Amino acid sequence: MKKVRCIDLHKGRHLNLPESRTILDIDGVLADFTKSFFQRASDLGLKDIFPSGDEEYVYLNCGVPKKHFKIVWDSVKDDEDFWLNIEVIPGTLESLTFKPFAYITHRPIANEISIAWLHKNKFPNSQECHTVSDPKHKVKLALKLGAKRIIDDLPNTCKDFIDAGLDAFLFDRPHNLRIEDIKRIYELSEIE
Ligand SMILES: [Mg+2]
Repeated sequence: MKKVRCIDLHKGRHLNLPESRTILDIDGVLADFTKSFFQRASDLGLKDIFPSGDEEYVYLNCGVPKKHFKIVWDSVKDDEDFWLNIEVIPGTLESLTFKPFAYITHRPIANEISIAWLHKNKFPNSQECHTVSDPKHKVKLALKLGAKRIIDDLPNTCKDFIDAGLDAFLFDRPHNLRIEDIKRIYELSEIE
């Protein structure tokens, strides 16, 4: 792959990372959304209803009643501080051995907040971040941008990419452990 020079704005040094036409999802690949979400549930007095976070759980509603999920979701969806302060999944930045082509996320918050989160956490090419209003729009945007693959934690998004003739890698997370028909990766460095 062609080497490009990326400027690490935080440390004033240049990082030589190979270029890649790889799209990265943010939540569940770079950002530990569920940890923060479960913490908010706990803050709202719902700790015993939500999973602890380490065991397998159903992603979309975490296996909890809709009304409890909605209480937490309504609490976080417009909360800029919540999105800005989600922790990085441990080891993710260190295992990033290529320059991401772009980040595509499905979030209810302004795109600028996600750019700020990427920048704050030192992810390269942070300005190339896009927010879509529906996960189904990820593949359309990727095709328009000229990307070749995605790393995402949601099986349906990976399947959309594969159906469109692109490549997809499922990032290993507790909520996708049962998926066997998509290539699974455990670290970003597995992508070349
Ligand atoms: Mg995700």
